[in-house]
Amino acid sequence: MSPPLRVAVVGAGWAGLAAAVEATSRGHHVTLFEMSATAGGRARRLPADTGLDFPLDNGQHILIGAYSTTLALMRRVGVDPGRVLLRQPLALQRADGSGLALLPGAPLLAFLRGVLAARGWRWRDRAALLAAATGWALRGFRCAPELTVAALCAGLPPALRRGLIEPLCVAALNTPASLASAQVFLRVLRDALFSGPGSADLLLPTADLGALLPDAALDWLAKRGATVALGCRVAGLHRSASGWQVETAASKAGGEDLFDRVILAASPTQAAHLAAAHAPGWSAQVSALRFEPIITVLMQAPPGTRLPQPMLMLEGGTLAPAEVLFDLGALRGRASPVADGVLAAVVSGASGWVERGLPVTGQAVQAQVRRALSIEVSVLKTHAEKRATFLCVPGLDRGSARLAPGLLAAGDHLAGPYPSTLEGAVRSGLAAVDLL
Ligand SMILES: Cc1cc2nc3c(=O)[nH]c(=O)nc-3n(C[C@H](O)[C@H](O)[C@H](O)COP(=O)(O)OP(=O)(O)OC[C@H]3O[C@@H](n4cnc5c(N)ncnc54)[C@H](O)[C@@H]3O)c2cc1C
Repeated sequence: MSPPLRVAVVGAGWAGLAAAVEATSRGHHVTLFEMSATAGGRARRLPADTGLDFPLDNGQHILIGAYSTTLALMRRVGVDPGRVLLRQPLALQRADGSGLALLPGAPLLAFLRGVLAARGWRWRDRAALLAAATGWALRGFRCAPELTVAALCAGLPPALRRGLIEPLCVAALNTPASLASAQVFLRVLRDALFSGPGSADLLLPTADLGALLPDAALDWLAKRGATVALGCRVAGLHRSASGWQVETAASKAGGEDLFDRVILAASPTQAAHLAAAHAPGWSAQVSALRFEPIITVLMQAPPGTRLPQPMLMLEGGTLAPAEVLFDLGALRGRASPVADGVLAAVVSGASGWVERGLPVTGQAVQAQVRRALSIEVSVLKTHAEKRATFLCVPGLDRGSARLAPGLLAAGDHLAGPYPSTLEGAVRSGLAAVDLL
């Protein structure tokens, strides 16, 4: 048994929360620093001053059954995934019922049956998709690292590329198919569609993001003696003979600030800045990442409106920015009720739309939803997270978790098989603790 260490975790996003919970479980003395007043990072409940009368998230999130580490962490801090997530077989269908929907069952069989039963596809499209998927599986879902998703799928019929591959790619990697890494895309497909039963299931939040993990994790940490410092920005990290000094407003005022280990789970830009003096190569690597925004447009449809499914795919196009639409009125449970008829549309890979401006995006999505569903909707709020995820391009050089002696990193941006996701963030938090 190694003696307990004084561990500072910088950043209470899902990576930092995972690291803090794991390190505390192993008996270490943990202090979690978070500059914002709210934990959760990019997957957080926004403060109450949004102008809406229900809790608003930083952006609509979905999980999938393959997020086994995230689901286990939720259970560990006392959240029952079944109470805050609606589990349903993967359905990537439009309002007219066209598109792919899997039935429950063994993954390969479910995929085969789903493709054969998909509405709106010609037999030629189905055969081409099955042939391509068989080829990917036979090659172990691996490909040349420099390949883009567009190049990987160039042989598929255009209707399939437009109707399935492109929206799926931008939704999963937040990167357009023309730029996205085929290697990461194939890995996501492998883990989601072709691993254990239920791995492809969609898990749609029925509560706000705070209730999914951050609230319970903070509670869990506090009950086990960890120190949680919200609203406490780490301004610098300094190495001395006796450990790591974490510079905050409180430490400047003479507070406790010396640690044996630091886990840097801050957002990539902040982490690169804090690590610059100790790991310049790592810092340069992380600074070189490019980011892509996600816009969420909240709309009010007439009360009583119910989408045919809680999550619908939308047909994209030059004037149609959103690729997915959620029925929040139907999804949100008692934990954070939302008015009837509230819909949330997600615009991924949204840099072009951010340039055009949020009001223009809101109007374009409003028109898109009217066309797709033939209902009147008004825009309640348009929210953008400008650095939502890193741009997941081929051959990306992502930083490792070891920065310098006693200085480790965690976060969705670190080297790993996944794109920017909750599961990637949580796994990296746990992995950093393994290196303590
Ligand atoms: C709109 C949107 C939609 C998304 N949709 C999905 C989805 O459907 N499914 C999915 O799996 N993923 C999705 N993601 C990605 C997912 O949210 C991220 O991958 C994940 O939240 C990253 O967690 P993290 O802990 O690595 O980083 P972050 O969440 O960025 O956490 C870093 C934390 O560090 C804090 N911090 C920064 N600097 C300092 C400092 N100096 N001192 C103290 N604290 C500091 C920040 O305030 C933040 O809380 C989405 C992201 C966005 C923005």
